[in-house]
Amino acid sequence: MQIRKNVLLKNYSGYKIGGPADFFCEPKSKKELLTALKFSINKNIPIYVLGGGFNVLISDSGFRGLVIKPKINSLVIKNNNIIVGAGVDLGRAIRASLKSGLIGLEEFSGIPGTIGGALYMNIHYYQALLSNFVEWIECVDDKLNLYTVNAKNKNWKYEFSQIQANKLIVIRACFKLKKVGSEEKWKTIGKSDEIIRTRFYKYPKEPSAGSVFQNIDTKKFYGAPAISAAHYIDRLGMKGTRIGGAEISGRHANMIINRGGATAKDVIALASLIKKRVRSKFGIEFKPEVQFVGFKKNPF
Ligand SMILES: Cc1cc2nc3c(=O)[nH]c(=O)nc-3n(C[C@H](O)[C@H](O)[C@H](O)COP(=O)(O)OP(=O)(O)OC[C@H]3O[C@@H](n4cnc5c(N)ncnc54)[C@H](O)[C@@H]3O)c2cc1C
Repeated sequence: MQIRKNVLLKNYSGYKIGGPADFFCEPKSKKELLTALKFSINKNIPIYVLGGGFNVLISDSGFRGLVIKPKINSLVIKNNNIIVGAGVDLGRAIRASLKSGLIGLEEFSGIPGTIGGALYMNIHYYQALLSNFVEWIECVDDKLNLYTVNAKNKNWKYEFSQIQANKLIVIRACFKLKKVGSEEKWKTIGKSDEIIRTRFYKYPKEPSAGSVFQNIDTKKFYGAPAISAAHYIDRLGMKGTRIGGAEISGRHANMIINRGGATAKDVIALASLIKKRVRSKFGIEFKPEVQFVGFKKNPF
């Protein structure tokens, strides 16, 4: 595995924004991942683990340390389980499980990203949370200690995972799904296609990192917040508001898009404006959903 120097991170970000990482590598196996971690320990530099970059804002000055982008792409189906590496594209995992007549993950069809990122964020779609399907996750921490996170002790919720709470790195994970017959299998494949079609119209085509802010945790609906942050931004008529190259999407008020040449500074200025206007009009304090790379503290 090559550890490259001075790699521009904008090429690995949903926003297409971000300066260089001092060091960057793409481990293809657990062994290579451990080698990368040893490198950071020996050099005494911080690490950042990146998936598909679809929920991160990377600083214009990049990251001082080692960015690790796991490319562990193994996928095994065994009985009712699918066991996938951290770097596996979520869509690939969903398609493979449905093809084998295993249903459950179809709710997340069309959400961009990797298994590692999806588990860290505990992705959601309406009432469905990815943690509902987790059987176990093989992880490591930045000091090379290995762990298995078990489904039984998970205690996960909206935008919260044990991976996040314990600063773990996902190596691979097992999801337990429901085995169905041919008729239900094809019905579910149809449902998955329908969800993808809906997303295609609902979400922007321009570079973005999905929802900027978390939904509002006031009215619980099957454990997930029911009131969308987009609803409040929409009520302020802010769609189309632009700062530099960053613009509030006309399709989804909680998504900021890169119209071309946007910087992290532009996204921060726009997100800060949204926060300020929502606070002043509705008295609500928005929390970021997007994760920050290369910033000393939450920039908005
Ligand atoms: C158009 C669009 C629509 C979206 N719709 C939804 C939606 O409906 N629901 C939803 O929940 N999200 C949605 N998202 C957000 C995004 O797709 C998810 O958060 C996704 O899981 C991010 O995965 P990723 O691999 O790109 O992670 P990244 O963005 O690269 O990283 C996200 C976080 O995960 C951590 N991480 C990544 N890999 C690992 C690993 N191996 N081990 C430990 N930590 C890791 C990173 O450090 C970071 O903190 C959307 C995004 C876009 C652009």
